[in-house]
Amino acid sequence: MNATPTATPTATPTAMPNALVPTLDPHALAKALSGFHLIDGVLRPAVSGKTFDVVSPATRKVVGQAAYGEKADVDVAVAAAKRAQVEWGKRSARERGKLVAECGRKLADHVEELARLVALETGKALRTESRVEASVVADAFAFYGGLGGELKGETVPFNPKMITMTVREPIGVVGAIIPWNVPMMLMAYKIAPALVAGNAVVVKSAEEAPLAVLRVGQILNQVLPPGVFNLLSGFGPECGGPIVAHKDVGKVSFTGSVDTGKIIAHAAADRLIPVTLELGGKSPMIVMDDADLDKAVDGAVAGMRFTRQGQSCTAASRMFVHRKIHDAFVERLKAKVDKMVMGDPLDERTDIGAIVSPQQFERVQRYIGIGKAETGAKAHECSAMPKDAALKDGLFVRPVIFTGLKNDSRVCREEIFGPVTAVMAFDSYEEAIGLANDSDYGLAASIWTTNLKTALDATQRLQAGFVQVNQNLVVQPGLSYGGVKQSGLGKEASAEAMLDHFTQKKTVIMNLA
Ligand code: ADP
Ligand code: MG
Repeated sequence: MNATPTATPTATPTAMPNALVPTLDPHALAKALSGFHLIDGVLRPAVSGKTFDVVSPATRKVVGQAAYGEKADVDVAVAAAKRAQVEWGKRSARERGKLVAECGRKLADHVEELARLVALETGKALRTESRVEASVVADAFAFYGGLGGELKGETVPFNPKMITMTVREPIGVVGAIIPWNVPMMLMAYKIAPALVAGNAVVVKSAEEAPLAVLRVGQILNQVLPPGVFNLLSGFGPECGGPIVAHKDVGKVSFTGSVDTGKIIAHAAADRLIPVTLELGGKSPMIVMDDADLDKAVDGAVAGMRFTRQGQSCTAASRMFVHRKIHDAFVERLKAKVDKMVMGDPLDERTDIGAIVSPQQFERVQRYIGIGKAETGAKAHECSAMPKDAALKDGLFVRPVIFTGLKNDSRVCREEIFGPVTAVMAFDSYEEAIGLANDSDYGLAASIWTTNLKTALDATQRLQAGFVQVNQNLVVQPGLSYGGVKQSGLGKEASAEAMLDHFTQKKTVIMNLA
């Protein structure tokens, strides 16, 4: 990614082909998609003609360009969305749902190409991460496609001579601002419910990952009417800012950092529009001395998202382990992560890929340095660096398991968004619960125990939006996902998320007296 925009004379508005053939060469696909927004059913360059580079983090080579979105582009996209929404919102909800489900089927045919493209631009390993993401995207559309019939209101027994009811109406144009870590999936969990609910959407992709989501958009536009789904690429203040500020955008759904979430919430407050904010986390994992140790270690590897270079807001980045089993847990965890293969994201053998951007790479290194400087801290560095000469400039970081850190250290308080976790010993359950809840964040939490009473008590006391016992799953379609405290506002991924966040309720009284 290169923040300096340049002009590309080659990109001209390109109508969508009638049928898209999956393209398994991600380099060719990246080039074909270079330099475009997707507005009103058409791939078109930025109004200014400017673009920015898309860089593969594994090689640091430029693999494509993205259109450099600014206010002028936002104006065109929002106008298209506003126009298209009028007809879209009048269709029956089940018909919209059927089209969204059809999008899911089309996406399922493109899983492999989407996986390869997102692996190229984000550095996420194909086998362990990118292919999983692409499948979940198709599944999210399938899930929401079936929910058209759930857009129901209530009847209210207000007065026998009146019919009193509530109805759910679309908001209109919804803005969505998404991050780079799981770009296609996080976009899907916003736009699938927004569309079924009758809204049109304008999405801004993350500057680090604009291409795979553009391909998703192209596939959606094989099914959806033009203008219902619009996608812009660009940077935060230049392209995201104007979306939130636009007078015709009625709601913004955002996933990203706490600081940006607050900027967006302030801008939304100025316009009195609702926001959904999925922000950061510092998720605790409590391992009791009666836990199944092997399962807990597997859960720690999965929960920390080492295969995603730890680039997850849900990452189990604070592990509280009972002192009796602390050392054994650390040994086994280290041994497991040590065996993981770091390398070319597109290689099937690779478990761990590259960090998304130089900024993020430096941030992770800085936090590792801060952790190492703490008194008593020990950094266990795992896995070998890739040996392939083509990857010598790649943004690879060896996963780090810290021991001996305190919960009030910066590494344990601040979100790193990298392959860095801290394992801390505790002596009593009460102490563990206190430490787990002593955080500004409250996204996810897990407890590992074979004692049912302890498990139940922990689910009630852990301050987090997503609490798991003896597992560390990712977001699941149908289950509300979203944080408390500084981790955000609102829920995603469920039927209620569609109803609560993408519709507005109207009360209707018909006087028949
Ligand atoms: P990260 O630290 O991973 O870049 P951000 O919160 O900065 O996380 O980015 C998440 C998304 O928010 C990206 O699409 C980014 O472009 C966008 N963004 C960043 N700053 C702003 C802003 N001031 N207004 C609107 N969107 C923004
Ligand atoms: Mg940013």
